Amino acid sequence: MTSRWTRAQVAAAEQGVDALIITPGADLRYLTGYEAKPLERLTALVLPSSGDPLLVVPELEVAAAVAANVDIELAAWGETDDPFALVASRLADASRIALDDHMWAERVLALQAALPAATVSLAGDIVRPLRVRKDADEIDALREAAQAIDRVHARMGDWLRPGRTERAVGADIARAIVDEGHVRVDFVIVGSGPNGASPHHEVSDRVIEPGDPVVVDIGGTMPSGYCSDSTRTYVAGGEAPEAFVAAYDVLLAAQTAQREYARPGVTAESVDEVGRQILREAGYADLFIHRTGHGIGLETHEDPYIVDGNAQELEPGMAFSVEPGFYLPGQYGARIEDIVVTTPSGLEVLNATPRDLVTLG
Ligand code: ZN
Ligand code: ZN
Ligand code: ZN
Repeated sequence: MTSRWTRAQVAAAEQGVDALIITPGADLRYLTGYEAKPLERLTALVLPSSGDPLLVVPELEVAAAVAANVDIELAAWGETDDPFALVASRLADASRIALDDHMWAERVLALQAALPAATVSLAGDIVRPLRVRKDADEIDALREAAQAIDRVHARMGDWLRPGRTERAVGADIARAIVDEGHVRVDFVIVGSGPNGASPHHEVSDRVIEPGDPVVVDIGGTMPSGYCSDSTRTYVAGGEAPEAFVAAYDVLLAAQTAQREYARPGVTAESVDEVGRQILREAGYADLFIHRTGHGIGLETHEDPYIVDGNAQELEPGMAFSVEPGFYLPGQYGARIEDIVVTTPSGLEVLNATPRDLVTLG
């Protein structure tokens, strides 16, 4: 199997880029398997478009890099060495270099000073097209992540009920995210009643009341590095407002239509429009205030973005969320979110938590 960094070299050569410089983050983990800590001492993959790559690491991080089984030559730098000079010494002939999209500004400036003749672009232009199409192992990892977060949603009845605060429910959910196989909790949103109208509300000390709609959007990172992200909206013991239930039915129809429509060959923005149109026709257009979804993989939010203006066509292996919602300020909100992967013939929905409105507690 061709290594990922070999494929990045080919893509760099095609774009006329002489070398990529990648610092700790998702691109480094994707290309090398090394989950390096983002420390003040420089760790950097130096990946020329032809020839052997080099992983520049601080001496005291060598053991960690070796433990990660990186199949790349290591160059250790000592505490008083200049790591930017070390990187530059390998790239003396480079006239075009591409830097990690999320590289710290102080490093960008130091590398530009060390390589004054080189023009600089973003490495994401080269790595993103590789990362956006997941291979079978990555899809397996996302499937495992989805199943783990589904198991957390399945236990929601143990925690979510009137009389408890969002914070207490959120703490139970966070523990379960780890219990069910994640190594890290990335976010826990418990938006009850009016707090549900703020899509990125986290938790508060608000006591959940009978009949409150509650938006529960949760996710974490698995040992594989791949992320989960799933939203369900519950009703806490009691009757939800009639207008809410009516709007929820429309939301479910919209999300279902989007899942049935998305497939290779359709554009990302058309998936958004399919759901938005259903909400618009029911009079809820102004309440759906965000895009339909985002790609997911080693990061919770990555390409492709399912948003108006993104005419990118879906291709097999693209993984993304389908998460329309509605938000009525001061009243309530709702969102339904699943992670899906495009297959050669259509779509695989990775989350299996039921989507009908469930009353708990
Ligand atoms: Zn979000
Ligand atoms: Zn989410
Ligand atoms: Zn999401």
